[in-house]
Amino acid sequence: MFQIAIYGKGGIGKSTMTANISYILSSEGRKVTQIGCDPKHDSTRLLLGGRTQNTVLDYLRKTPKENRKLEDVVFEGSAGVRCIEAGGPEPGVGCAGRGILTMFDFLDSENLDEKGTDYRIYDVLGDVVCGGFAVPLRKGYADAVYIVTSGEFMSLYAANNILKGLLNYDDGRPRVGGLILNSRGMTGEEEYVRNFADGVGLPIVSVVPRDPLFADSEASGFTVAEAYPDSEAAESLHKIAKDIVMKSSNPEMLRNPHPLSDDAMDMVAKGLSISGCSSLEYRRVRNPVNDCWSLKSCAGMGAVAYSKMVQGVHTIVHGPTSCAYMMCYSTDLWTGFRDFHGDGRPVCQKVSCTALDDSSSVFGGIPQLRRLIRKRAELDDECIVVISMCVPGIIGDNIVDLCSEESKNLGIRIIPIPVDGIGAGSASNGIRSVVLKLSELADHVDEKDSSLINIMGEYRTSTNHMSVLDESVVELLEEAGFRLNTVFPGFCDLEGIRRMGRAKYAVRSYDERNNRITCEMVCNSLGIELMCNPLPRGMREIEAWMAEVSELTGRNLSDVIIKMRSEYERSLAAIRSRTEGKTAIVVTRPSSDYSWLFEILEDLGIRVLRSRQTTYNRWLMGQPACDDKTPYTSDLTSADAEELSPDIVLSDSQTDVSLRTRHWRILTPSPGMRGIIDWAERLGRAFYAPEMEMWR
Ligand code: ADP
Ligand code: MG
Repeated sequence: MFQIAIYGKGGIGKSTMTANISYILSSEGRKVTQIGCDPKHDSTRLLLGGRTQNTVLDYLRKTPKENRKLEDVVFEGSAGVRCIEAGGPEPGVGCAGRGILTMFDFLDSENLDEKGTDYRIYDVLGDVVCGGFAVPLRKGYADAVYIVTSGEFMSLYAANNILKGLLNYDDGRPRVGGLILNSRGMTGEEEYVRNFADGVGLPIVSVVPRDPLFADSEASGFTVAEAYPDSEAAESLHKIAKDIVMKSSNPEMLRNPHPLSDDAMDMVAKGLSISGCSSLEYRRVRNPVNDCWSLKSCAGMGAVAYSKMVQGVHTIVHGPTSCAYMMCYSTDLWTGFRDFHGDGRPVCQKVSCTALDDSSSVFGGIPQLRRLIRKRAELDDECIVVISMCVPGIIGDNIVDLCSEESKNLGIRIIPIPVDGIGAGSASNGIRSVVLKLSELADHVDEKDSSLINIMGEYRTSTNHMSVLDESVVELLEEAGFRLNTVFPGFCDLEGIRRMGRAKYAVRSYDERNNRITCEMVCNSLGIELMCNPLPRGMREIEAWMAEVSELTGRNLSDVIIKMRSEYERSLAAIRSRTEGKTAIVVTRPSSDYSWLFEILEDLGIRVLRSRQTTYNRWLMGQPACDDKTPYTSDLTSADAEELSPDIVLSDSQTDVSLRTRHWRILTPSPGMRGIIDWAERLGRAFYAPEMEMWR
């Protein structure tokens, strides 16, 4: 079997040429299959008496997998040509290129008869040479490519693009048959096309005249070759068929693609001769091998992680189920099942997915999203956040308009977060989008309550249990004269978001650059004063934090600070008898601030022999350890650990347990006094617990 792809700009006459070629080859006794690859789906019309046939993509959409049969999409046309039509989505939705890929997948899986076919001809739209429309250019498909063009610059421009596309699939084997000049009838047309043809080094295999016979035969549903076999037009079409037959048995006559540069195309446009200007050839720019990016994270994932924290919000992941699965389960299996808010609903019940499949990526996923939104509304969801993944982004699903439309129809709040993966940046961008959008639900209150404070950010505590608010934090806030208003978005419901604007102050739950920027944006828009210091961990941080509260509120907290300091020292003195003089190696991730850790080790009389940062987060590597007094090394081996023989290795990741010594996992303490004392007590016990039981 010899496969030919006929490319060209839309409306240039591809289908007319292709149908004529198929007819001629078939009527001469060869077995021919014609496959239309244009959403216009009129490629085979002239072979089917003017009728358009059912398209493969429509068929795949309507027919369950188990009922699909190749015969249902193959129609027999004039002279026995087998006709197949890809079809495609409505203009403006989905992805036609993806559709072509889907059709090829189907034809391949059904083993479209190759033995019985001499020629398979693809009629392909060449305006967009995206990955989908380029499938026929791939290895295993077109053995020869012909490009239909007229003298109009835009059709030559498209021809040049097709050559560029072909260059991307070039394996060195010559595959270009040549140009077919389908005349428009402009003056000097042939000369103009010949200038281009010489530049790209291709023959013009035939000049098809502009002829009213084409319209005549089309009106009666025939090819010119069939209706007017003796016409000049038919003769020019026979010439193309002959060229194909000749090159199919002499493939060495085919050429390699040599598209022109933009400058050369500019000369073509101006009618200047480009023959011999080899320097004007287009060169494909290949990325150097080492110039590659590692994927950092995904905006969609950040958005889902934060949206699912808020009680009373239902999150819809608009994308394939695998995306939703990754976001809810695979990064942290526990969070998927954990009931964050004590309302009996684990995360998997708070997140649903539109489950986009291949058909929705071709025809658009808006109907699925609409159906799911309505289903959630029937289940009495008050607020829905719709987060779009890469697929809807690539195919252009407009979730913003749909959300506002359905919001009006259903009378519920539907918040679109279009973070379409590739274009939307990393997880922090997704987090920011969702946090800012949700914060718009807060009441704008001018008279703020100076005894109220919001905690901003993710709410992390030592044990990671989010279902109870940490008493250590509540106590800390009380000591400072505050009542906790809400924890946004880490531990709140819709009511909590609404009342966020009542508090005069806010404090970040932890120190992190992206969280700080987001919190500043939220607080600025609501007129809330954001503290510089985050919730404090460790005594020195507590003192600094209290001092800032004093400054902000004018409250005199010096007695409170003295009282806390003496409580801290009293509690530590009791633990110190077990820890004094012990030695430790500290292994941490580079991304966290551990000043509280080194401070408390010092206060407990534990000597740090060496600290090391793991390679856990490769993108952040190279940042110095926070304790500059301790010798720092980035490659601590078991041998080093043996040589230094510390009493304990403290590490914040599971990966370092291979060091053959007593090992203790550092969990971040709760902010406030009680958090740090609890932490110190646990560490004190660790020196005495039997090593075998350390995992507890
Ligand atoms: P494409 O498949 O590239 O979109 P078509 O083959 O459908 O283009 O052609 C578009 C129109 O131009 C058709 O109505 C066809 O009859 C007409 N046409 C094509 N070639 C000629 C020609 N050489 N002379 C007159 N009309 C032509
Ligand atoms: Mg066509």
